[in-house]
Amino acid sequence: MTKKLSLETELVHVDDTNTHNASITPAYMSATFKAKDLDEMGPYDYTRSGNPTRSALQNHLSKIMKAKHVYALNSGMAALDVIVRSLNPGDEVVAGDDLYGGTDRLLTYIKTFNHIKVGHYDTTNLELITSKITKDTKMVVLESPTNPLIKICDLKAIADHAHKQNPNCVVVFDNTMMTPLFMSPLELGADIQYESATKYLNGHHDIMAGVIATNSDELAKKIFFVINATGAGIAPFDSWLLLRGLKTLALRVERQQENAMKIAKWLESQNIKVRYPGLESHPQYELHKKQCKGTGAVLSFETGDVAVSKRIIAACELYSVTVSFGYVASLISLPCLMSHASISAETRKEREFPEDLIRLCAGIESADDLIEDLAQAFKVAGFR
Ligand SMILES: *Cc1c(COP(=O)(O)O)cnc(C)c1O
Repeated sequence: MTKKLSLETELVHVDDTNTHNASITPAYMSATFKAKDLDEMGPYDYTRSGNPTRSALQNHLSKIMKAKHVYALNSGMAALDVIVRSLNPGDEVVAGDDLYGGTDRLLTYIKTFNHIKVGHYDTTNLELITSKITKDTKMVVLESPTNPLIKICDLKAIADHAHKQNPNCVVVFDNTMMTPLFMSPLELGADIQYESATKYLNGHHDIMAGVIATNSDELAKKIFFVINATGAGIAPFDSWLLLRGLKTLALRVERQQENAMKIAKWLESQNIKVRYPGLESHPQYELHKKQCKGTGAVLSFETGDVAVSKRIIAACELYSVTVSFGYVASLISLPCLMSHASISAETRKEREFPEDLIRLCAGIESADDLIEDLAQAFKVAGFR
């Protein structure tokens, strides 16, 4: 077909040929592949270097992410680890100040042990962040919207500035929250887009996975070298599960977003301070709308009291108390004790991180049930 297909259609049609014409890409559970003869080794020899199920996944993601090169890895953090290995001691990295807790931990590691200079800044302040990106900046690490603070950065403006200062500056963008459905960071100027596929891309909380996408042949070569050298590539069965999860990405995320919007509006109607990019009250509502096609399904709100927040979370019956997001069921968490506990209390205070902040990740349930559950939890907790 020559007509350009929409992403919803592309997601469910996997191009793959296999020996027996199986309708679903098989999981090639083999660490090794036999050579036909010594002169013709074939495309696969060892799964650390390549596996047909991983290739089918990467080719599929390549269409979805509209990227020339895509690599699938063991986890989102393995993806970032592979990316930052291109840095050398003394190199300068400019990063956001509300990044995922694990990202913060890995950047602190390379700062401490690899002697790479890492600075964290408020990415919502365009003047500040661009003033920190100079001709000496080798890499910029961004995330938008962040969670749980739901901070939004102007990717195009920051990437344009970085490339003007230093054409070789690598702008890295974590697109876990928006997914390729709602945001195309490479089109907005990022050199590398990576995502934790543990979240929405897979959607069922049964595997860990990460994805890296780039249109640069040179960066792709370095990335593949590290993956092959370290064994960070995704395993065959996990590739197979991720291929399955991806087919329902659009259905899941659109419903989750619809639920998040209803919950956000209900919370706001209770005079609660809510952070969600779909609400006009969000300070960067317009900027987000300019660079994304959707607003996602993660929101956060404040109660004014950590003890009240803890009571609300304990009283919820439908929301699982867990880190992570992107699962088909709804989740609730207190980030300062959970996903963001790896950031010290002192740093959290410095970055104005409210300790009472509750994060909600909407699932695909009925929005009415989700709102009713929150209302009863508020009552039990003596809130509102
Ligand atoms: C979960 C997450 C990661 C890390 O991915 P893992 O698959 O858990 O290693 C990175 N960035 C964001 C925004 C995340 O939510």
